[in-house]
Amino acid sequence: MNLNPQLNSKKNIIGFTEDDLNEYFISIGEKAYRTKQVLTWIHKRNVRTIDEMSDISFQLREKLNEDFYIKIPEPKSKSSSKDGTIKFLFNVGHNQVIESVFIPEETRNTLCISSQVGCAMDCSFCATGRQGFSRNLTSDEIIGQLMAVSEGVGSGESITNVVFMGMGEPLTNMHSVVKATSIMMSDLMYGISRRKITISTSGVVPNIYKLSQLTNASLAISLHSADNKIRDQLVPINKSYNIQLLTDACWAYADATNARYITFEYVMLDGVNDSIEDAESLAKLLKHKPAKVNLIPFNSFKDSPYQCSDRPTIELFCKLLQSRGIFTTIRKTRGSDIDAACGQLAGKVNDKIKHPLSKRLQ
Ligand code: SAH
Ligand code: SF4
Repeated sequence: MNLNPQLNSKKNIIGFTEDDLNEYFISIGEKAYRTKQVLTWIHKRNVRTIDEMSDISFQLREKLNEDFYIKIPEPKSKSSSKDGTIKFLFNVGHNQVIESVFIPEETRNTLCISSQVGCAMDCSFCATGRQGFSRNLTSDEIIGQLMAVSEGVGSGESITNVVFMGMGEPLTNMHSVVKATSIMMSDLMYGISRRKITISTSGVVPNIYKLSQLTNASLAISLHSADNKIRDQLVPINKSYNIQLLTDACWAYADATNARYITFEYVMLDGVNDSIEDAESLAKLLKHKPAKVNLIPFNSFKDSPYQCSDRPTIELFCKLLQSRGIFTTIRKTRGSDIDAACGQLAGKVNDKIKHPLSKRLQ
């Protein structure tokens, strides 16, 4: 099933923000309160046809039917891990799939969503990067993942947190990511607080500044090393925007959005970035800054060039950072038995286009 059907000029209304719909209603001479009615029907009362919107006149429903359709993606498959994690695969046309991962925990249910089909950033430790880039997802394809997973996991399991940590680099698809984020935050729709929505980036520095003007969602940075030479090898965009430029943008983002902290993700790679010196440099970089660190045990995938650091090394790295006053946690690996863990998402992508800023590693 195609998530992005070009049914003549009709649009999938699930990707519309409050502002988008206000603009539409004004353009057809309708009152703005229609926005509230329509969005509540779709996102709170879960109707799937415009005709079910019973407090809207027949004439207006006819008009809405001319201009819009409601289409929620249907999962192509759903696999459950023994730890409760569920991975959903969605077909996005042209034989390509994207993945979303539902991660239930005691106090929250997190949805990890994709923002692109594949990714052009070419990070050397990431399965999605291996696949290359195909295209950006639209706002309806992004919010559609949330709607479909909510339906797919059944009642009583509402999504409390969303992380843009699935396939793709959200900061090279700003337009749709910002729209989807606004839909998630809107009280008319999902009312998820800004602190519970995290946009993770490999470090597209100019767009971090732009993002701070468009949303106040939480920001996470895939840092992985405090040393430019190492980071150049792991996250090629570092060659365009080095660690200094990146952290400057982070502190500016924290200021502009009044954020308590920026999260720095750090994948633990045996013998690459996991020494005591690496931990000391990281502590120095983040000392006295609004920062916290999340250490991610590396998840291997077919032909991956790295090994995960061993547990004692990860724990020592964590303790050292903590002893330097850096708030640090170790991420619990979830869903690895169904290839749903960080960096293992690698739906089939046909085209392989690298981002112009990223260079393939030798
Ligand atoms: N493109 C964005 C968001 C998706 S990646 C970004 O890079 O931030 C989400 C997180 O998974 C990132 O922190 C990324 O560095 C991490 N990751 C990628 N591959 C991984 C792997 N094989 N093992 C563990 N974490 C990985
Ligand atoms: Fe893309 Fe993020 Fe993977 Fe890097 S880590 S290739 S930016 S998805």
